Amino acid sequence: MRENEIRPAQLMQGQAKAFAADILRLQKQKNDFINVPCPACGSEKARKAFEKYEMTYVACRECETVYMNPRPTPAILDRYYATSENYRYWNQYIFPASEKSRRMKIFRPRARHIADICRRYNIVNGTLLEVGAGFGTFCEEVRRLAIFRRVIAVEPTPDLAETCRRKGLEVIEKPIEQIGPINTTIDVIVGFEVIEHLFSPRDFLHHCAKLLSPGSLLVVTCPNIKGFDIAALQVLSSAVDVEHLNYFHPTSLSRLAADCGFETLEVTTPGKLDAELVRKKITAGELDVSSQPFLKQILVDEWEQVGEKFQRFLADNKLSSHMWLVARKPPVK
Ligand SMILES: [Zn+2]
Repeated sequence: MRENEIRPAQLMQGQAKAFAADILRLQKQKNDFINVPCPACGSEKARKAFEKYEMTYVACRECETVYMNPRPTPAILDRYYATSENYRYWNQYIFPASEKSRRMKIFRPRARHIADICRRYNIVNGTLLEVGAGFGTFCEEVRRLAIFRRVIAVEPTPDLAETCRRKGLEVIEKPIEQIGPINTTIDVIVGFEVIEHLFSPRDFLHHCAKLLSPGSLLVVTCPNIKGFDIAALQVLSSAVDVEHLNYFHPTSLSRLAADCGFETLEVTTPGKLDAELVRKKITAGELDVSSQPFLKQILVDEWEQVGEKFQRFLADNKLSSHMWLVARKPPVK
């Protein structure tokens, strides 16, 4: 997979402009931001990790989760997403232009991956609910596999919810925390790149646990703060941005899931882009590796020979920055 296929360079300029407007709006509300304890373990002990876009990110001294603190309130975040120029731009330009390639490179494999997980844990012919369905491509792909009786897209952003409806998907246009009981048993909840955006991942997971029946699954993906590209690039990483408030790692996310009533079945990091993302920063002159001969060797000098193998090594050893958690609400004994 190449980055340009899923983020077309010529469109990313417009996206950067839309995102800059969103960031400015958020910066103007900084005085209303509030302090929170660690989103994973609840500890108040933290040290400053880095700053970006005038936002402060701290690292928990207990569990090493990194999180934005202070952060926007839930009300500020609701307004931010409802009026985001960035999301409108993605919905209007980037998703349509890159959908074919995203479908083949991201969503079709993702749907198959979910199907495999569900088979592995005996979830058959049930109801799948996707939180943050976005452009609806994953829901379409999973519907195509015909392994679920019902597929529900939860998407609070109005433009995106409308796109999902146009695709004939069943849509709930609300944040999941505001969804009451649903007239069906939910067998699997999936949330791809959602949890890092939330004011309270803990509330989110508690709410998922309430919606799920015993024995059913939760699958979430998010950045791994201990993964290669984020650890190597820090503030230079595009994964570090104003919308990402929470940066877990495999252990801290499992711990939070356990606190919210889930047992962790698997944590994996099947990321494919870490090495390429770091390499790009080096070749663009943004990351200086003149005193890092090993990184230069792998990512520049011997890239053709070892680049792919290095990425595979990262993915296989929970060292990629793209993380998957599969957890289960324990069956009734
Ligand atoms: Zn912590």
